[in-house]
Amino acid sequence: MPKNNYKPRYDDTRIGYFTTQTNHMTTLDRVNYRDFINRWNLIKKDPSKNLSEPVKPIVWWIENTTPYELRDIIKEGVESWNMAFEKAGFKNAIIVKIQPDTATWEAGDIRYNVLRWTSSPNPPWGGYGPSFVNPKTGEILGADIMLEWSYITRRVYEDDLFNDFNENTLNQYCNAGKYQQIETSLGIDYIKAYDLGSEMEKELIKQSLYRLVLHEVGHTLGLNHNFKGSTLLSTEELNNKDIVNKRGVCNSVMEYPAINITKDIKNQGLFFDIKPGIYDNWAIEFGYSQFNNEEQEKIGLKKILSRSTEKNLAFANDALDMRSPGKGTDPNAMIYDLSSNPMEHSLQRINMINNILRELKEKYTKNNDTYQELYRAYRTLVYSYFNALEIVSRQIGGVHIDLSHTNQNSKVKPFESVSLENQQKAMDIISKYGFSNKVILQDDIFPFLQSQRRGFSVSEDPTIHQRILTYQNRLLNHLLHPKVLLRITNSQLYGNEYLLPNYMIDLRNSIFKEDFNSNISTVRQNLQITYIKRLIKIIDDKSKYDNISQSTAHYNLLWIKNNINTNTGNLSSRQHKDYILFLINSINNI
Ligand SMILES: [Zn+2]
Repeated sequence: MPKNNYKPRYDDTRIGYFTTQTNHMTTLDRVNYRDFINRWNLIKKDPSKNLSEPVKPIVWWIENTTPYELRDIIKEGVESWNMAFEKAGFKNAIIVKIQPDTATWEAGDIRYNVLRWTSSPNPPWGGYGPSFVNPKTGEILGADIMLEWSYITRRVYEDDLFNDFNENTLNQYCNAGKYQQIETSLGIDYIKAYDLGSEMEKELIKQSLYRLVLHEVGHTLGLNHNFKGSTLLSTEELNNKDIVNKRGVCNSVMEYPAINITKDIKNQGLFFDIKPGIYDNWAIEFGYSQFNNEEQEKIGLKKILSRSTEKNLAFANDALDMRSPGKGTDPNAMIYDLSSNPMEHSLQRINMINNILRELKEKYTKNNDTYQELYRAYRTLVYSYFNALEIVSRQIGGVHIDLSHTNQNSKVKPFESVSLENQQKAMDIISKYGFSNKVILQDDIFPFLQSQRRGFSVSEDPTIHQRILTYQNRLLNHLLHPKVLLRITNSQLYGNEYLLPNYMIDLRNSIFKEDFNSNISTVRQNLQITYIKRLIKIIDDKSKYDNISQSTAHYNLLWIKNNINTNTGNLSSRQHKDYILFLINSINNI
C-alpha cells in the first residue's frame, strides 16, 4: 500500500460513489457507518490557485492493439472528463497516452492504467471498467478498461435478447456496453429506414463509442450508475436540437439511456452524450474538491451536497433501479428509458418502431443474399417495442424515492406514489399496445424471418406465438409480481389512489374485454390462458402472495366463471372458452 498523506472522504447517500465500507467501533451513535468513497489521490500542485494541475495526474494508456482510426475518439472521450475535474479545481487531471509498439511493459501490468482493446469470439460485454483500491482508505490505485470490437460491429446476440439476460447488479458489474449496443442497433435501423446516409451512421457509431468510453472511465473514477440521469429533459426538449446539444441528453454518462431519436429528422441533436453531464460534474466536485483544512472541507462539502434537491441533479444507483420485475420502486430509475415523461417517450418510440417495420423488408433485403439481416433487425425492433412497454409498466404500483436529508426542506417526501392518472394511463398503453392484436407486428414479414444456415444449424419456423407470449409474460411478471401487488395495497396508506381491486379489474379487462363475445385470435387466446393460470397460482395453497392479493385474484376468476359465454365466437374461440372454464372449475371449492 502506498505511504502517503491521502485523506479519505466520507460517502454521502445523495451522490453515487463506490465505497470502501468500514464501521466506527467505539462511537455511541446508533448509525456507526464510516464509509469512504473510492477516488484517486489528486493533490493540487498549487493549492492557492482556484485551478491547478495535480501533482500526479491520472494517466491512461491506450493499448497498442487498438485500431488507429478509433484512437482519437477514445482519447478525446477519456480526456473530456477533464471538464468535470475543472469544477473541482483541477486542470489536466487526466492524461491519455498511447502504448508504444516498442513498450517493454505488458498491457496487463497493474502499474499502468490501460484501455484494453480485444476482439473475442463470444464477448462477455462491450466494455467494462474494474479498479482496485486501498482497503483502508478507498484510494484508487489502478484501473483498466476492456473495450470489445464487437461493440463497434453491433453483433448483438439476438438469442440473448429473447432469453432474459443475466441481470446481475453487483457493485462493479456493468452492462452499459450491451445495452448501448442494442440502442445503437435501433439507431442504425432508423437511419436505414429513412435513408439518412452513411455519414449519419458514422456519426452515430462515433458518439456511441465516445459514450461507452465516458461511462467506463466514470466507473474507474469511482462513480456508480445514475439511473435517474435520463430524466433531465422533457420529451419536447429532447425533440429540440439546440437544447439537446447544449444541455446534453442526460444529466449523467453513468446512465443506461435509450438512444435519443427525434420525431422530426430535421431536429435530430445528439444521439448519445459526448461529455460528462451536469450530475457528473457535481459528483466530481464533491469527490475531488480540495480544501485547506477540515473546517473548510466540512462547510464546502455541505454546500455542494445542499444542491441535491435540484431537479437536474436527480440520482439513483443500482440499489434503486427497476430493471427487472419486483426490483426497485421508482419508475424514474429505469434503464433504457429517456425523458422526464418516460411514458410519452415510450409512445413516441412505439410509433417510430412501427414506422421502421413498415419499411423493413424493402430496406433489409439485399440482392442475392440470405434473410439474416432482416431476421436480425426484426427481432431487435420487436425487443425494443416491448422494452418501451416494460418502461411504461413500472408506473403501476410505482413509488418515487427522494434521498434528500432532513435539513434540506425538500418539497417532496422520501416516498411518494405515482399519481392515479399516470398509473391508469400506463394501464391503457399496455392494454392497447401490449395485450391487443396490435402486438402482431407487421405480419407480412413473418414468412421471411429466416436466419442464415450455418453448418447444421438451420432456421425454424419463426414461432410467432411463443415470441409474443414471452414478451407479454415479461410485462405480466411486473404487473402481477407479489411485491408490486403488495406495494399497491401498502402505498394506499400513504397516498396511492389506484386501489388494488380497481387495478385488477382494469388488468382483467385489458386481457378479456375486447373480444369477450366475439372471435378471439390465437395470440389473445394464448395470453388469456396464461393470465388465468397465473391467477390460479396466486390463490394456490403454496402461494406466496399476501391475503389481499389473493382475494382480488379470486374475485376475478369467479367473475370470469360467472360471465363467460361459451356459445359466442367461432369454433376456435368456443373451444378456448370451454378450456378457460375447465381451468377455473378445476380449482377446489370455487
Ligand atoms: Zn456501468
